Amino acid sequence: MKVKEIMKNLEAKHPGENEYLQAVQEVLESIEEVYNENPKYEAAKIVERLVEPDRIFKFRVVWVDDQGNTQVNLGYRVQFNAALGAYKGGLRFHPAVNESMLKFLGFEQIFKNSLTMLPLGGGKGGADFDPMGKSDAEIMRFCQAFVYELWRNIGPDQDSPAGDVGVGGREIGYMYGMYKKLAREHSTGALTGKSFGWGGSLIRPEATGFGAMYYVERMVKQNGDTMKGKKIALSGFGNVAWGAATKALELGAKVVAISGPDGVCEMPKGITKEMIDYMLDMRASNRNKVEDMATKFPKAAKFTAGKKAWSVKCDIACPCAFQNELDEKDAKELIANGVQYVAEVSNMGCQPKAIAAVQKAKVPFAPGKAVNAGGVATSGLEICQNAEHRNWTAEEVDEKLHKIMNDIYDMCVKYGTDAKGNINYVKGANIAGFMRVADAMLAQGII
Ligand code: GLU
Repeated sequence: MKVKEIMKNLEAKHPGENEYLQAVQEVLESIEEVYNENPKYEAAKIVERLVEPDRIFKFRVVWVDDQGNTQVNLGYRVQFNAALGAYKGGLRFHPAVNESMLKFLGFEQIFKNSLTMLPLGGGKGGADFDPMGKSDAEIMRFCQAFVYELWRNIGPDQDSPAGDVGVGGREIGYMYGMYKKLAREHSTGALTGKSFGWGGSLIRPEATGFGAMYYVERMVKQNGDTMKGKKIALSGFGNVAWGAATKALELGAKVVAISGPDGVCEMPKGITKEMIDYMLDMRASNRNKVEDMATKFPKAAKFTAGKKAWSVKCDIACPCAFQNELDEKDAKELIANGVQYVAEVSNMGCQPKAIAAVQKAKVPFAPGKAVNAGGVATSGLEICQNAEHRNWTAEEVDEKLHKIMNDIYDMCVKYGTDAKGNINYVKGANIAGFMRVADAMLAQGII
């Protein structure tokens, strides 16, 4: 395989799908060596097969808003790769959603799900629907209309969507309700991220953030250090940042920044439990303003409009919001301010030039597909519980999640360490994730 050639062909076939091309390029560059050492991969055209989704559903979603106007959105489900199991991955509701974004996310999901060692294939979906400012009834009608189109193509052994940006417990509830009505069966594993009490798993809401902090703790330990007193900057204030802040506090670290589209909230003494709880209210308000934290806690939090979390001096930087949210300039600012670790919690949260700058400065950098895998891993555990018709305790789930994250960390180190003992977490995650999928594809023949 020659990465340049493959990329040239892909660019010609999929012009302008920048996020998707960026995600593919990063993986191919990491695996090139391993791939070329195994002629069986080349013979079976593993890479050429892996970069194209099995199929993409694209559909019109029509619904009526509170004023009685008809609204039309575009919905998608990208079923990317099923070598390891039924398709699994979230749904994103955001006005910027398009095929490129969902293909990048679906592609990343293949390797992330592989790293969990659970039987999960890779998929992703969503719609260009903007949940901001919508009433609860509008959200419900949209979710119902979305599932009305997709329900035949999902199911516990077919494809199991979950939440992502703009899709949380409430949306999953509305989608599951409609799914169940149409399918006429209680296939609880058809969607994950359900509420506890009707098939949801304890710890699923916290899982992405908890898992990320378990991974970061290992990175810090690798350097003979501990999380105690470490200053952490998080971006966003959604579900992922909330879970990460909760665990960071428990591990003795100090979250000194959270951010939103309006700016950054700096908290020199660190976020408190009360403030973390308030993040949930901020999200539920649908205002999407991080300034609300400083309004509520004026002594503890200072809001600066138009600034990112990366302008705040910290030891650990964790993008938790959206792809490409941390650019080269941000990386340079973090490095100048003495950042010691950068761990992506959002999917592809850092731009390639930002990653290069961080790696050049010898600051350990870990990619989203490894760091945030705790979310989908716990979705996998939710499916197990659904199949057993049982609920595990929070301790049971958390213990399994912790072990999965430790194993992912160990795999990244195993495949990412060079002859001099330097660890490249990006390479480690991509190689480990790829090998499991590629070997499964080889074993299952040319399909
Ligand atoms: N959207 C999450 C992710 O990016 C979770 C997916 C899931 O639980 O299926 O991995």
